[in-house]
Amino acid sequence: MTNIPALIGFTEKNQNWYVEDILLSDLAKQFGTPLYVYSKHALVSAFKAYDSACFDSNGQRKARIHYAMKANSNLAILGCLNQLGAGFDLVSGGELARALKIGADPKMLVFAGVGKSSNEIREALKAKVRCFNVESIAELHRINQIAHEMGLRAPISLRVNPDVDAKTHAYISTGLRDNKFGIAYYDVLKTYRQAALLSNIDIVGIDCHIGSQITTIEPYLDAIDKVLDLLKQLKKEGVRIHHLDLGGGLGINYGNESPPDIHAFTKSLLNHVHNSGFADLEILFEPGRSIVGNAGILLTQIEYLKTSPDKNFCIVDAAMNDLMRPTLYDAYHAIVPVQASSKNTHTEKYDVVGPVCESGDWLGKDRSLAVNQGDLLAILSAGAYGFSMASNYNTRARPAEIMVDGKQAYLIREREQIQDLFSKEKTLPN
Ligand SMILES: *Cc1c(COP(=O)(O)O)cnc(C)c1O
Repeated sequence: MTNIPALIGFTEKNQNWYVEDILLSDLAKQFGTPLYVYSKHALVSAFKAYDSACFDSNGQRKARIHYAMKANSNLAILGCLNQLGAGFDLVSGGELARALKIGADPKMLVFAGVGKSSNEIREALKAKVRCFNVESIAELHRINQIAHEMGLRAPISLRVNPDVDAKTHAYISTGLRDNKFGIAYYDVLKTYRQAALLSNIDIVGIDCHIGSQITTIEPYLDAIDKVLDLLKQLKKEGVRIHHLDLGGGLGINYGNESPPDIHAFTKSLLNHVHNSGFADLEILFEPGRSIVGNAGILLTQIEYLKTSPDKNFCIVDAAMNDLMRPTLYDAYHAIVPVQASSKNTHTEKYDVVGPVCESGDWLGKDRSLAVNQGDLLAILSAGAYGFSMASNYNTRARPAEIMVDGKQAYLIREREQIQDLFSKEKTLPN
C-alpha cells in the first residue's frame, strides 16, 4: 500500500508528476538520474508557516526561526532562507563556513553539537556567532579558555537534557536521560552557577532539543515546563537569561503520520511560554526536517525488474548511499511512478532496491507498482537528511541537485564525477 503525503510544489496530473510547472520526466532527461529535485515554493511555504507564527497580537516579533542546516545544507537552500530572514543552527565548523559563505549575519547563528573541537570554537568566536549551545561542563571550560586566549567573551546557552520521551525512533531521540545530548537536568543549575563565575563567558540563553520526527506536541510542552522550572530558579538566583531555544524536531508526513500543522504548533508553543509568565523571553526554534523534508524528492530510473518465487525486486539507479534513511532508520518514503509506464503492465509487489552490495540497500519494501524497465520513479519526502547524509559508498558519485522555481529549473549542485572521488588519494611509491 502506498500512502502518499499531501505535498506542496509536487503534483500529479493524468499520471504525470510535476514539480511546480515542470514535468519530472523532463528534468530526468535534461539532468540524468538519480537526481534530487526541490520546489522553491514548498521551501518558502514551510518557512513562512513558521515565521508568520513568531509575532504576538500587537505584531511584535517574539521568536526567530534558526534553520537546522544539517537537514539540507545546499547553498541555494541556505541562500533562499537567508533572504527570507532565517537564522541558522550549526553543528560543525563546516556548517559555519557554509553560513558565512552565503552571507548570513553571525548574530543569526547558533552553534550546537556535543563535540565542538577547539578549532571550531575558535572559528565561531572569530565569526562572532550569537550563541554557543553548550552540552557539557568540559566544553564550557574549553570555550572559556579559548575566549580568554582570544581576548573575547563567549555568549553561551546550556542545552538541557529534560529527560522527556519524544516517542520517536531511538536513533533520533535526544532528550532522554541516557542520550549523549545536553546537560543532565539535575546538573543544569549547578552548571549555570559555575558558568556565571567564568571570566570570559556571557550567559545569554537556555536550550533543549528533544529529538526528531516528533509528531505530537505533548513532549514539547513537557520539556518546556521542565525548562521553565529551571528558569524560575535561575531568576531567583539573579542569573539573567535572554532567550529560550526550543530546538527543532517537528515531524513531517511521509505518508502515514499526521504531525501538527507548523503554524499552529509554533503559536501553541509560543503561547505556552507566554502564558507561563515568561512573555519577555525571546524564543528560538531550530526546525530542519519540517522546512525541507517535503520540499524535495529523489528521482530515479528503473534499471531492471527481477522476479523470484518469493519476491520481486525493482532495481533502481539510486541507492542507500544517495538516500540513507530507509537503511538507517527503517524509514518509509512513498514511491510513485512519475509517468504512465512505457508498456502496458500489471501491478506487482516489489522491493525497490539499489545497486549497492548490501542487503540493507533498499528504498521501499512491498510496494505495489505497475512498472517496466526504464521507467522513472520519484521517492517522495526526500528533501531532509537525503543529500546531506549521502555518501560515496561503492565509489558512487553523488546525485546532482535541482531547484525549481515556477517554470525555471536551476542546477544547484553538479553531479559528482567519478574522478573527483579519488582525486585526493595517492598510491604508494614502488
Ligand atoms: C538536528 C537538530 C535540529 C533539527 O532537527 P529536525 O528534526 O530536523 O527539525 C535542531 N537542533 C539541533 C540541536 C539538532 O541537532
